[in-house]
Amino acid sequence: MVSAAPDVLISLRGIRKHYGGDASGQPAVTVLHGIDLDIRAGEFVAVVGSSGSGKSTLMNILGCLDRPGAGSYRFQGRDVAQMDADALAWLRREAFGFVFQGYHLIASESASENVQMPAIYAGLPRHERQHRAWALLQRLGLGERLDNRPHQLSGGQQQRVSIARALMNGGRIILADEPTGALDSRSGAEVMALLRELAQAGHTIILITHDRAVAAQAQRVIEIHDGRILSDSARQAVPPAADHAVLPVQVPASGRAAATPWLAELAEAARSAWRGMRMNRVRTSLTLLGIVIGVASVIVMLAIGEGARRKVVEQMGTMGTAILYMGSQPPATGGPAGQITEEDLAALRELPEIRRVMPVIGDPVTVRYGSADKQVYVFAASQEMPLVHHWPLALGRYFTEAEDRNLAPLVVLGAKARRHFFPDAPRPLGQQLIIGSSAFEVIGVMSERGADSGAQDYDDMVFIPYRSGRARVYQAQTQPDYVVVEAASSDAVHDAEQAMRRTLLARHGGREDFGIGNAAARIQAEAATRQSMAVMLGLIAAVSLVVGGIGVMNVMLMTVRERTREIGIRMAVGARQSDILRQFLTEASLVTLVGGSFGVAAGLTVGAVLMAAGVPVVFSVRAMLGAFACAVATGLVFGYMPARTAARLDPVRALAGE
Ligand code: ADP
Ligand code: MG
Repeated sequence: MVSAAPDVLISLRGIRKHYGGDASGQPAVTVLHGIDLDIRAGEFVAVVGSSGSGKSTLMNILGCLDRPGAGSYRFQGRDVAQMDADALAWLRREAFGFVFQGYHLIASESASENVQMPAIYAGLPRHERQHRAWALLQRLGLGERLDNRPHQLSGGQQQRVSIARALMNGGRIILADEPTGALDSRSGAEVMALLRELAQAGHTIILITHDRAVAAQAQRVIEIHDGRILSDSARQAVPPAADHAVLPVQVPASGRAAATPWLAELAEAARSAWRGMRMNRVRTSLTLLGIVIGVASVIVMLAIGEGARRKVVEQMGTMGTAILYMGSQPPATGGPAGQITEEDLAALRELPEIRRVMPVIGDPVTVRYGSADKQVYVFAASQEMPLVHHWPLALGRYFTEAEDRNLAPLVVLGAKARRHFFPDAPRPLGQQLIIGSSAFEVIGVMSERGADSGAQDYDDMVFIPYRSGRARVYQAQTQPDYVVVEAASSDAVHDAEQAMRRTLLARHGGREDFGIGNAAARIQAEAATRQSMAVMLGLIAAVSLVVGGIGVMNVMLMTVRERTREIGIRMAVGARQSDILRQFLTEASLVTLVGGSFGVAAGLTVGAVLMAAGVPVVFSVRAMLGAFACAVATGLVFGYMPARTAARLDPVRALAGE
């Protein structure tokens, strides 16, 4: 057994590693067969061996990217096996700096940003880390290349960027796995010169190579073959000079990592998420589309539902909740239908529960003005029509009771009827319309009413006095088509109905040869129908929001899979699991935040278009905030699973891009 000297930094005893043989079904392969190794601070060690001899496996264990199967690893006397994931991340961040054969730079980030990454996870303030990255790149001859992305750099330059990254947090121990393997001989020589320089400056360098000529440049050479150490030049060599243990760059104190500014890292995660979204524009916009449609449909559906509800309420206002309809009908016991006479109407008007009684006759009749003629619904009713319908005039006046009694030939036009017969005349008042075969004088125009659900369009009609209608147009009619009765108040509707029935029964000799309909009840039933329709629309919208959320999850899972190597790199430079989790959650919420904002905008636009098309739409701020909040919550909920998957990746496997 070799005993550890006091200045030993790394001490391995009986380290073994095997792959397969377990649940994976692969045959068991032992890669390291019990490695004993001590490395002192400031040494420049080369591990040399042929391909497949286990060098990279050893390096991953040394760098705490991987755990050994058996044996002990002490770092400055501390047992690494006892450390949790965060402590290992701390070691990777603060003690080690990795240089890989394939550089392992993040393709979407600039040279400077790649170099800064370890400092982000160490919590160095933005300004300081920018300055330090600049200084390091300057020193390595890349001062002009700060903003270049990796694909804009040569292999030698990329490797120098990765060396700068290894030095960002101090790089007390540089672990370089075949750093010259992918480089031409000149760039390779430059990289080796750099490593020698760093060794001279006091950094501990562990260089892994299959090339004996490269290994010979180190101060100590360890030969490895089939997972066993064949020879170690340190066993004969003198120990390194004491001054080599002095570090030129202060390793940050361990307390620093705990005090990582949470907000700065969040901003950093948002920035890189935003960049990722911009680089994958098509995919991002498709994901966004799911959220946009979800949020927009919630807003529009709720607005339509609310619009429909208000419409019914409004209708209750215009038609009144105190309206009853009455007409003659054959009694249930058989026999002819009754006659509603003028005297019946007069008797009803006397009842205290009843405010207004309006007999109505209406039918399509040919109406002519000059050479223009048209079938128009001619509405013959008493002078109370504007009051019963809560409907003001736009122009002129309505006829009076006296004119009705005197059979005056007067007509008031609906707004559309006026446009039809008098498209150009500013004031059609005083003109004569021929209704049927009689001339009527235009005395007024009703205001625009808009379409009522179910009913005919009142704006198309013309309105004439009830009595002159019967005398001049509807001569064959012996009684009104129906009678609109307004109760004294909406609370008195039921009483009014009872009183009407009693009075008419008495007048008709006990025969119920008439019918009474309650409009208020009908409107209330319609309101209930519309309410349930609104609920259904809301449900459909909620489902589409969930579908959007699943889209986010899908894309996030794909992103995690696509970016395993990036996750591995981030872990190698010292990201904790929580950092990775936060980054992917930030990305998911950013997608939904942006999607939610566009969704609100799209919902408003669609709603405005519907409004312009005459659909009753009422926006609600609560619905908008709710839909937006739901979208963001969906992003977090559906983004959590992929983010956790990313955070739990094994660093070595992630680096291999598995
Ligand atoms: P070197 O770096 O010296 O070329 P490695 O340490 O990469 O060698 O690999 C040593 C041996 O371990 C090789 O035979 C390789 O096939 C095997 N090996 C490495 N990683 C794995 C793995 N994840 N699963 C199975 N076998 C592996
Ligand atoms: Mg290797």
